[in-house]
Amino acid sequence: MRRIVWCVVGTRPEAIKLAPLVSRLRRERDRLETRLIATGQHRELLDRALADFDLRADYDLELMKPGQTLADVLAAGVAGLDRLIAEDRPDLIIGQGDTTSVLAAATAAFYRRAPFAHVEAGLRTGDRYAPFPEEMNRVLIGRLATLHFAPTHQAVDNLLLEGIARSSIVLTGNTVVDAIWSLDSRSNRLPIKPPTAAYVLVTAHRREHQGEHLDQICSALVELTRRRVDLSVILPVHPNPAVRGALIDRLRDRERILLIDPVGYADFAALMRGSRLIVTDSGGVQEEAPAIGKRVIVIRERTERREGFETGLVKLVGCDRDALVDAVDEMWDRPEETSGRIGPGRFANPYGDGWASERITRAVLNFLGIEPEPAPAGFHETWDERRGDPNGISNIGFAYVDSGGMNGYESAV
Ligand code: UDP
Repeated sequence: MRRIVWCVVGTRPEAIKLAPLVSRLRRERDRLETRLIATGQHRELLDRALADFDLRADYDLELMKPGQTLADVLAAGVAGLDRLIAEDRPDLIIGQGDTTSVLAAATAAFYRRAPFAHVEAGLRTGDRYAPFPEEMNRVLIGRLATLHFAPTHQAVDNLLLEGIARSSIVLTGNTVVDAIWSLDSRSNRLPIKPPTAAYVLVTAHRREHQGEHLDQICSALVELTRRRVDLSVILPVHPNPAVRGALIDRLRDRERILLIDPVGYADFAALMRGSRLIVTDSGGVQEEAPAIGKRVIVIRERTERREGFETGLVKLVGCDRDALVDAVDEMWDRPEETSGRIGPGRFANPYGDGWASERITRAVLNFLGIEPEPAPAGFHETWDERRGDPNGISNIGFAYVDSGGMNGYESAV
């Protein structure tokens, strides 16, 4: 009998980061029935990202409502998923990252005693309000999850520090590296013509940036284009109404600042590859840029992704106008360092090696009591082994002692 595995997605980054895993799990169709469940927390961006990977949700809760609060999303998400779990009885529910949809999925799974596996587990800033609400979402999901797929060594350490059982953690690398490396030649064609040959690609959408922070960021971008005629800015504007309004008010009709609607994943990857520098508050972009050898200035006070610092490609500057102007100014004249250092077969990328979905699939099969096929050529059980790290933690993983969740689930529903 095939086992039912759910992958739950609510927003664009989850779709991008789970897409390679859904595709990989679906290759096990003799043994697994993999269903893609959308909460629809973000409607348009989610559908677009799924379409980029030729995926469509098997079931959609259609949660997005005008003016929805986090509490609305959580409450409706838990209730909707709860009903669906009772009907479909998945053997394992998988969620990725830190959104309220994932918290809803982990909570609904817990109430039904269904095991929940967390992809991209263990990222922490240590500040419960930054990023908000994502940091606390991650902590809570970590308590609820049965399996933890940690992308980096640091993430494993964070989980161990919180008392998560070592046997429930697998070091996998981040599936975003699988995603970006899986793009074909589509990601080499720019979707628009940049105003100047060299440009800065900017994204800014975090909740905690509304108000003063966003003013500082906009003011820095205006100042940079004023100072340098060879510099332009391309900024895909996130549909979040608060951020969108502020960015359009401040940056509309400015010379060499191009505000565009969000673009599909392949187009965004092309914009990243074509840029001289990236300025972002996005978590995913911080991981993707080192995966394609691009430098990134992070406009956040704190980041849960510090591994990129060691490559010299990632710099955290906060949201102060002058600090951002100085950082871009300093890097602008050193373009030779911005590309080609990291990639398949080149420099070690701190976030993954493109095998995360394979590792997760093998761990899922193992957890469900199904023997994985022999490992594919070039595959290493853990990501640290792949990096040849002598302090790696290849002893972690696959030895699950806690199967109570599944047995409990059988009797609870
Ligand atoms: N992205 C995209 N189109 C865009 C802007 C971003 O496909 O116009 C991708 C980007 O490559 C990354 C993800 O969306 O993988 C980031 O999403 P977001 O910034 O919404 O979330 P976060 O990464 O902060 O969780």
